[in-house]
Amino acid sequence: MTAPLHEARPPGAGARLPDTQQGMRRRNLARVMHTVSAEGPLSRAGVASRIGLTRAAVSTLVDELVRSGLLEELGPERPGRVGRPGSALAVSGRGPAGIGAEVGVDHLAVCAVDLRGAVRARAVRHHANRGRSPEPVIEELTGLVREVIAEVEREGLWPAGLTVAVPGLVARDGRTVVRAPNLDWNATDLGALLPTGFPLTVDNEANLGALAELWLGDGTPPDFLHVSAEIGIGAAVVVDGRLLRGTRGFAGELGHVPVHPDGPECACGGRGCLEQYAGEEAVLRAAGVEAGEDRVGLLAERAAQGDRDVRRALDGAGTALGIALTGAVNLLDPEIVVLGGALSGLAPWLLPSLETELARRTAGPACAVSVSRLGPEGPLLGAAHSVVRAVLDDPGAVAERG
Ligand SMILES: [Zn+2]
Repeated sequence: MTAPLHEARPPGAGARLPDTQQGMRRRNLARVMHTVSAEGPLSRAGVASRIGLTRAAVSTLVDELVRSGLLEELGPERPGRVGRPGSALAVSGRGPAGIGAEVGVDHLAVCAVDLRGAVRARAVRHHANRGRSPEPVIEELTGLVREVIAEVEREGLWPAGLTVAVPGLVARDGRTVVRAPNLDWNATDLGALLPTGFPLTVDNEANLGALAELWLGDGTPPDFLHVSAEIGIGAAVVVDGRLLRGTRGFAGELGHVPVHPDGPECACGGRGCLEQYAGEEAVLRAAGVEAGEDRVGLLAERAAQGDRDVRRALDGAGTALGIALTGAVNLLDPEIVVLGGALSGLAPWLLPSLETELARRTAGPACAVSVSRLGPEGPLLGAAHSVVRAVLDDPGAVAERG
């Protein structure tokens, strides 16, 4: 086992308060953080009036958040005003950073996002990971995480947590990959392979892609179905702004919803699953395109040039997606379906047949389908932003560590 990526921070002053006061203090710290994050820069008085606490109470909370590096003072606000000028507060661009990582079938990526949501560092390595055992892959990923952390530490940021996106089923413990068929990983405790001095979470890439869409999407509503693809096809259901995870954490396996019950055998043990028609390999095969480096880019290029085989393959994939999505839409009644990940780059050629099937088969009016502007970056951004959201939701936990 390698050394921790970052030293754990000793507990701060807030940890010594009794439980009830502690709980209230932490809730109020979160309200201040969220208010400044959503509406800042704001003065202390501005924060106080928005959350309904006294200016004195807000000042104590703000002082703690400034000391912990979560908020920063931008200087006097409206200096012409009578009385002591209030200092404008903003979310810090130098405090905690969310580290996101992605294990793809043929790449590894890591990025750091500050509390303002800006990407501050990024590292990517292209490498075929299919069939490699988890240890060397995670060792390589750890190296990239170290690179990114070293880069942001030079700018005064420090890692508040690491979330890793994987293309597979993740147990509800948030660290065990139960099954990742396209990597051939089974029952792998990534938590044990990724030692850190800060919180670590492992999650399914489709879940994190959907969360990125919820947090960063262009007017994405709180009820939607997110469909994405790398090699496999994943989906995630967001209901009332929350991910529907299912009892074991496996919800959203749209790729294994049967499209044709007697269709080709699938690695999952079933037949005729959506992945057999709309998965990347199935589309490449149907299009007669060789698997190479930028497969999605190649498909999009050929489709744009009017290549008939590619267009027919994508049309077929859209039909299969439409059939599988009909079941999900009829069951869940989402406001929209969002195509994300690699699918977003192929949307112009998938959408017509997909929408036709959906319109023909859904019980109510046809559900609208939109295309994510995050593209293949979604899961990585979702991973980093999930750490940032956790800091905004409970800044007291971070203040205690700092
Ligand atoms: Zn299957």
